[in-house]
Amino acid sequence: MPRESSTRWGVGVDVGGSHVAAVVCDARGKVHRSAERKCERRGGVREWVRAIVGTVDEAVRLPEGRRVRRTVGVAFPGVLEGPTGRVVYAPNLPGWLYREAVPLLEKALRSRVRVENDANCGAWAEHRLRGKRTGPDLLYVVLGTGIGAGVVLDGQLLRGRYGTAGELGHLRVPGALSRCGCGNRGCLEAVAGGRALARRAEELARERPTSALGRLRAERGALSAWDLLRVAEQKDPMAAMERDRAGWAIGEALGGAVNLLGTTAVVVSGRLPEGAPGFWRAIVSHFESTLLPPLRPRVSLRRAEDWQLRNAVGARLLMES
Ligand SMILES: [Zn+2]
Repeated sequence: MPRESSTRWGVGVDVGGSHVAAVVCDARGKVHRSAERKCERRGGVREWVRAIVGTVDEAVRLPEGRRVRRTVGVAFPGVLEGPTGRVVYAPNLPGWLYREAVPLLEKALRSRVRVENDANCGAWAEHRLRGKRTGPDLLYVVLGTGIGAGVVLDGQLLRGRYGTAGELGHLRVPGALSRCGCGNRGCLEAVAGGRALARRAEELARERPTSALGRLRAERGALSAWDLLRVAEQKDPMAAMERDRAGWAIGEALGGAVNLLGTTAVVVSGRLPEGAPGFWRAIVSHFESTLLPPLRPRVSLRRAEDWQLRNAVGARLLMES
């Protein structure tokens, strides 16, 4: 347990699409306590704030006489503007749009608060915790319901004015027309994100009710992205084609981003590729074929390890950056 003089303890919070996670960790990113709560994606701001406060309170509860300094870094799934963290884009938490996140959370948490885009937090934590392995340049990508990314160049987090630097999920996939949560059409996220793959699985199941996906849907009532990837692993040709299309699009976007940015390491986190080796192979093959040839032996692409609390840890570490 920390000593009272251990003033460098802080709290990091990850606000996901349907959950809140909080960690108490030190300035080196070592997690000493964590807590997690579920929250409705469509819940109101008040409900989310209550979940955030409850999760932080649970994480900082320490034995009598011990206290954690309440500076709170918050990883938020959206785009935030200015020192007040005005939310200008948050497709997964629509109720937060145009809210000033910092004063709202500072009042509720009675703490100093910094809010940052969640993928940027993840990238910063990966850089701080694994920098010896990855080097000073990193493209950190989160494949989940959506597709997020953060970039570290020469040891600095690349933010852009609105924290959107490296927003890989909204690169246009040639020929794609699907509507994205951002309002544009044909974004990578709208083609290869978890929500897009779930929708595609549903469409395929309806078109061919006797296929493996169709039968699974009849059993379950609804399909997820992981159902599509699992059926593809069983060598169902229709599901495998969809999986490969998504993997190729992601691989090309990653390779193109490295060609543009000059990062030497790419780290992929998130639930989507878990237990789906065929999906990962599709990503890797197109990543390598898109890279500039001289970069191929020099750039590493790997899966993140222990990434579940990474955004929350990064949010806390960014409080001191
Ligand atoms: Zn988009």
